[in-house]
Amino acid sequence: MSTTGILGGGPAGLLMAILLARRGERVRVYERRNDPRSSHAEAGRSINLALAARGLRPLELAGVMPRLEPLLVPMRGRMLHDTDGGTQFVAYGQDPRESIYSISRSDLTRCLVEAAAATPGVTLQFNQRCIGLDAAGEPVLQDELAGREHAPGAARWIGADGAGSALRHGLRDEGQLQFREEALGHDYKELLLGARDGRPQLAREALHIWPRGGYMLIALPNADNSFTLTLFLPPDGAGGFASLTDDTAVRAFFEREFPDAAALMPDLESQFRAHPQGRLATVYCEPWHFGERMLLIGDAAHAIVPFHGQGMNCAFEDCRVLDQLLADDPHGDAFERFSVLRKPDADAIAQMALENYGEMRDSVRDPRFQLQKSLSLALERRHPGRFIPRYSMVMFHDGIRYSTALSRGLLQQQILDTLTQARDDGSLPAPDAIDWTKADALVAALPPL
Ligand SMILES: Cc1cc2nc3c(=O)[nH]c(=O)nc-3n(C[C@H](O)[C@H](O)[C@H](O)COP(=O)(O)OP(=O)(O)OC[C@H]3O[C@@H](n4cnc5c(N)ncnc54)[C@H](O)[C@@H]3O)c2cc1C
Repeated sequence: MSTTGILGGGPAGLLMAILLARRGERVRVYERRNDPRSSHAEAGRSINLALAARGLRPLELAGVMPRLEPLLVPMRGRMLHDTDGGTQFVAYGQDPRESIYSISRSDLTRCLVEAAAATPGVTLQFNQRCIGLDAAGEPVLQDELAGREHAPGAARWIGADGAGSALRHGLRDEGQLQFREEALGHDYKELLLGARDGRPQLAREALHIWPRGGYMLIALPNADNSFTLTLFLPPDGAGGFASLTDDTAVRAFFEREFPDAAALMPDLESQFRAHPQGRLATVYCEPWHFGERMLLIGDAAHAIVPFHGQGMNCAFEDCRVLDQLLADDPHGDAFERFSVLRKPDADAIAQMALENYGEMRDSVRDPRFQLQKSLSLALERRHPGRFIPRYSMVMFHDGIRYSTALSRGLLQQQILDTLTQARDDGSLPAPDAIDWTKADALVAALPPL
């Protein structure tokens, strides 16, 4: 039986390996890092991640949910923090079933490694870094422990080696694809807010946001009652990371902008000094496949900014869609079909993720935005299955493609804008003054979803 080689043993590479092997395929995963079962997780990347419907379904198909479920912390909505310390909770969906789930990146990786290692047909090889393609177009691996290079060969290759993908660079150098990386222009830094006497210091079942217009701080809960905070700021300029030059500047900035968080973090300055500053970018690549020999999935094909919490969810959805196409592949062109089918969806979530940065750091504070948010949930209750808020389509409905969520969202936004038009004196209509007859007619005129 022929072997599929997977470059990268991150979320996408590991899940793909399990799904393929469960259908009887032989899979070999090459990961540049140490085996997480025997070493500490690497610091620096986001320490926890939000999982949503599109990620949960493929994890269920792969049989790993029983391992993961105890590690998930539900987040039912956003907790908004003012500069005066006041808070406001805004639910994500109709009820607690419409939640997203925080999970530690290292716990998730360890669970997937354990599940992959226990799946017959999967071989995991760590400390194997892909360094490009050889003259014959085969991936070359550097054994990081032995220090030697080798080209193991495989019938086909899947590149799941993340945003800086060596396979993507190799294929680009051979003229097989093009890509560009668009920097966001804002960087991030992660900080830890520990539990106090074992208890959480913020409301636990929420994604916390300190929206400040041009930038923001967020916090996601961890299973041990700590929170991972992420500060998003421009790298340069007066209000950027570069201006936070010493402990005094860091403390003063946090006390001015995020006073409630600052009060809970006596070790803020030392963490700020020690933790790395990460860059954020969107990768636009086309095509993702090289014949039926090689294919990019996950961040390697389409890294996005993290503001919709969908990068990993999209990578997991890639695995489910590709597995289906490979299972039913009468013409042997599954890689090409995957690339063609998924590209519009990846472009759509890339756009929505960028838009969501503006929403999280700024619009959430706007009364018109808040009115439209509650109106969209009310319209969904009146017209279930016909009007579904765009956020819900992306986060809770894995049967709706990202590209559909984007286009449908535009039509629905026109309805929301019409219904919340300012009155003659410039004020917003009161929530109980919405013209429901008009609203129902506008929704009824939408094409079927
Ligand atoms: C700050 C931040 C917050 C985020 N929050 C969320 C969130 O809440 N929800 C969400 O869904 N997504 C989130 N994401 C996105 C998410 O992290 C990625 O989309 C996801 O990790 C992609 O999985 P992947 O397997 O494709 O790539 P990666 O996770 O990057 O995994 C790639 C793997 O390949 C290995 N590798 C890399 N190069 C090589 C090589 N040359 N040879 C061999 N192996 C190699 C790496 O070591 C790694 O194990 C966030 C990202 C950031 C930066």
